[in-house]
Amino acid sequence: MKIGFIGLGNMGLPMALNLIKAGHSVIGFDLVQSQLDAFASAGGKVAASATAAAKELDVLITMLPASKHVEGLCLGDAGLLANADPKTLLIDCSTISPKVAQAVANVAKEKGFAMIDAPVSGGTAGAQAGTLTFMVGGDAQAVECARPVLEKMGKNIFHAGANGAGQTVKVCNNMLLGIQMLGTCEVLRLGIANGLDPKVLSDIMSKSSGRNWALELYNPCPGVMENVPASKGYAGGFGVDLMLKDMGLATENAQALETSVPLAQLAQQLYEAHSKAGNGQLDFSSVFKMKDTR
Ligand code: NAD
Repeated sequence: MKIGFIGLGNMGLPMALNLIKAGHSVIGFDLVQSQLDAFASAGGKVAASATAAAKELDVLITMLPASKHVEGLCLGDAGLLANADPKTLLIDCSTISPKVAQAVANVAKEKGFAMIDAPVSGGTAGAQAGTLTFMVGGDAQAVECARPVLEKMGKNIFHAGANGAGQTVKVCNNMLLGIQMLGTCEVLRLGIANGLDPKVLSDIMSKSSGRNWALELYNPCPGVMENVPASKGYAGGFGVDLMLKDMGLATENAQALETSVPLAQLAQQLYEAHSKAGNGQLDFSSVFKMKDTR
């Protein structure tokens, strides 16, 4: 299969490399030269632009930061939908607003494309290992066409419903993750203030009712776990600004549907304060460093 991949960042690059490893021909594009260099050195073909990458493909995957990037790149005369072949299956793996995902998929359908939203969970480690969970929204037929490609990058592929449903599941998941991370950091700081070893505390809670993904697999306290951003100066991983975007998606969505989400609102304020203090590009587990959250 000939696959295009646009957005070769922390997630997109390892995902694209798994497609290359599986024997696909992958042409990619990103705005950052170092990402293109890493992609090329692993056997990827670098395109001169996003639209140049979109020509004569079986599948075109986008993995971009936020709604505005997906809208900006897909729509308009210079956009991907105006330049790709309508036989190309479009898969957007970015985490964006469900409404924007629906709107872009509607324009795609009008132009004759099949398009699905397929945001992911599992972090950069899951992207590297090819064990991501995909939450997919779109027509069943398009989802089945995408499945063999998604299976090269992930272990669990769930069809959540119509276009936008994958993004709605992702919004719910990340709202919980964002809240859980803040709670986990709070608890670890309290344990340390009491003189506990954070590793001992984490080990015990991981076998008790406080267990959760942030604690067990992505521990935010430096030195507790190897190979997580907390033990690498909070570099790489899932940026604070991306988590802030996701908390915004959750609270906007809840507001539009008049659903009460006070914990998500508080979490959004805390990630915002942490970002404004200059930590936007660090991994979101760096909220562990927030000293005063009052
Ligand atoms: P990232 O910022 O590392 O990567 C995004 C890439 O998109 C960047 O390299 C950027 O240069 C590129 N880009 C932006 N506009 C572009 C354009 N017009 N043309 C080409 N490239 C462009 O972000 P990430 O961590 O890889 O996350 C990507 C998406 O996946 C986000 O929506 C994020 O919320 C979601 N996500 C991230 C994680 C994670 O752990 N990092 C986990 C699950 C989901």
